[in-house]
Amino acid sequence: MRLVSFDDGRIGAVREALGGPEVVELSDLVGGRGPWPPTAMLRFIAGFGELAHAAREALERAPGVALTEVVLEAPVPWPNKLVAFPTNYEDHIKEMRSSNRADRNGFFLKAASSLCGPGVPIELPNVAATREVHHEAELGVVLGRTGRNIRAEDAMAHVFGYMCLLDMTVRGAGERGMRKSFDTFTPSGPVLVTADEVADPSNLEIDLWVNGEPRQHANTAGLILGIPEMVELVSSVCTIYPGDVIATGTPGGVGPVGAGDEVVMEITGLDTLSMFVVQGESGRNVALDAKDEVRP
Ligand code: MN
Repeated sequence: MRLVSFDDGRIGAVREALGGPEVVELSDLVGGRGPWPPTAMLRFIAGFGELAHAAREALERAPGVALTEVVLEAPVPWPNKLVAFPTNYEDHIKEMRSSNRADRNGFFLKAASSLCGPGVPIELPNVAATREVHHEAELGVVLGRTGRNIRAEDAMAHVFGYMCLLDMTVRGAGERGMRKSFDTFTPSGPVLVTADEVADPSNLEIDLWVNGEPRQHANTAGLILGIPEMVELVSSVCTIYPGDVIATGTPGGVGPVGAGDEVVMEITGLDTLSMFVVQGESGRNVALDAKDEVRP
């Protein structure tokens, strides 16, 4: 199933139709989209075992609206956690001349409020001109079941699905969790594809282009910590909940983006995430101004 969040907290699934892809709304399966905060997708993921049948029936019978008529949001707009792994591909470690490695440093957290969908542009903060904002194309993993101390051999049963994810980053000095947490700094989607439709998540091609120019190309076979090992590591520290998102790390080829750029990324079977970049008017702060030497 190819799930989407759209139009202010509604959830749905995408199907192919004669006139192009359509969205069938599934919000009613979880009691409606509900009031703020937008948790309909969390309830759908948590209840998927019981809800999948009704969702598939709706996909066959219920009316849909053209995908082009809706505003797509982050597939999971309100996770309990947005976890991210740094330095999880050898070529990215080399290009950053980093002494870090995912299997030695573990994970960090991004603000979940940095998640967005393709319905809004990436907004660059107005940080000093000496700072670069880089794209990092990553496989996004969405967890499906509550768990703690999950062993790697059991981990895949906790994975709900996959999506394209961009881990946008202000380079240079300063805490990573701050530099990567600006609003719109984690574009994701356009769809969340359930695990049953992804034959081998350890063999997916990741590509990213800026203005049509290829910048990143890799296969998830190159992950230092694979998905089972990441789930084991994260759940050794914190309880994982349905809808938690793991940004699995970027391969080599990261680089700067500027206002007016179009960033396009694809992962095998997960559709195309296209984002425009605009210049914002806020975001500068005393910490980011303090030092601006470029460093991972
Ligand atoms: Mn990253």
